[in-house]
Amino acid sequence: MSLTVVKNATCTFCGCVCDDIELHADAERIVETKRACILGESWFKNHTAERLYPDALIDGREATVDEAVEAAAEFLHAADMPLVYGLSNVTCETTREAVRLAELVGAVIDSHTSL
Ligand code: SF4
Repeated sequence: MSLTVVKNATCTFCGCVCDDIELHADAERIVETKRACILGESWFKNHTAERLYPDALIDGREATVDEAVEAAAEFLHAADMPLVYGLSNVTCETTREAVRLAELVGAVIDSHTSL
């Protein structure tokens, strides 16, 4: 099996935008990610263009976005120490809204890069 090698690929997952990643791919998938951190490796190897999940999940069950927003609001309202967490692969506008939400509910905000 021959591999396609892409040098100096850019990872856009966490926002650091590392641009020295070397990717090795077979005909179907990326199989090696040299110089990517564990988050970048997971992103390159596991995220596909295929649509694998519905728009929203509540407790693992498919839900509408409106239902998910309602559930999230209930969780945040009931929380003693709310946490707004995630924010990988999102826009600046999304991050701005997340910070606004965290301030509104008195939450701590963190990104997955704290892993
Ligand atoms: S997830 Fe890792 S490899 Fe990707 S941009 Fe962030 S630090 Fe770089």
